[in-house]
Amino acid sequence: MKSTRIQLLLVTTLFFSMLSPINGQGRTKNKAASFARWYKGNTHTHTLASDGNAPASYVVKWYYNQGYNFIALTDHNKIINPDTVKLPGKLRKDFILIRGEEVSGGKSIHTTGLNVTGYVDPGDKTLANAAILQNHVDSVLTHSGLPILNHPNFSKGIHASNISTTSKLHMLELFNGHPGVYNWGKEGHAPVEVKWDSLLTQGHRFFAVASDDAHHYDQFYPEKANPGRGWVMVKSTVLSPDSIVAAMVRGDFYASNGIILKTVEANQNNLTVEIDLVATKEQLKSPYLTGNITTEGKSGFLIEFIGSGGKVLKKTEGTSASYAVNGSEQYIRCRVSYCRKRAENKFEYLYAWTQPVFPGQK
Ligand SMILES: [Zn+2]
Ligand SMILES: [Zn+2]
Repeated sequence: MKSTRIQLLLVTTLFFSMLSPINGQGRTKNKAASFARWYKGNTHTHTLASDGNAPASYVVKWYYNQGYNFIALTDHNKIINPDTVKLPGKLRKDFILIRGEEVSGGKSIHTTGLNVTGYVDPGDKTLANAAILQNHVDSVLTHSGLPILNHPNFSKGIHASNISTTSKLHMLELFNGHPGVYNWGKEGHAPVEVKWDSLLTQGHRFFAVASDDAHHYDQFYPEKANPGRGWVMVKSTVLSPDSIVAAMVRGDFYASNGIILKTVEANQNNLTVEIDLVATKEQLKSPYLTGNITTEGKSGFLIEFIGSGGKVLKKTEGTSASYAVNGSEQYIRCRVSYCRKRAENKFEYLYAWTQPVFPGQK
């Protein structure tokens, strides 16, 4: 069965769910683990093969020039073979393409198939929301890929109640850089982060990515679907499609739309997070970022540890923080934010979101 690889990884993940270290350094003590590093990547990008406005080679060059380590070209119901894409001339050794597709079904339900072996058919587009999503997940797994539910608040959206009934789905897009996806909520739909907490609180194991969903590579302004807005940082000893996806399935990554972390570490007693201040300050100069614009805010860094029901268990204003685990928490995750003042009494929040750990799950 072709989906064996992912299923095995998920089983492994569950096996290690008792506070396994997120940064991959403490889980095993073998030598290779000490060489794990962070790799920056985007799991959701479009090209001329569907509704993006640049050819694949141009898109790849854009990400390469911005210092990314991997991207997946994920056109709507189209597969681009990475071997056919012209790569930038002086290719760094730390840059790869991962084969992907945005499986785009009816009712605006879209699912990234990451590292799929071949074309994934979106199936019957007339089914109910939950059935469309389950078809996507099953088909992506059949093609040995990792399914990621995209932009849950896009168009009519999909509610947590429809996501929670889906089996073998363990990842969703928490932040999507497209201007039409309502990451922060809209009428009838809670912020995606609230949906994530709802799923976790119900006992479903979900990790979260941030991605670009980039379509436009010529003009850059907030109303365009530009690249450079959301990404994942994956901790891995090896940069290959299989190792990156395996690390994501283990939860050895965090999602970001502006903040860079130096340390994300969990053990039986503590969950510790430290901001990479130098890298974050550099990242915050990027003209491509689009944060959460609010009318109220407090400038500076804030680190929050979040548990069941989305409740903030502890918060610290600063660049590093540690949460003492008491063992009864259903889950704990960390949200790091940076707030900066914008024109007209507006504030902009940028984030890094770590994956949850599950001390209460034996
Ligand atoms: Zn989509
Ligand atoms: Zn898309």
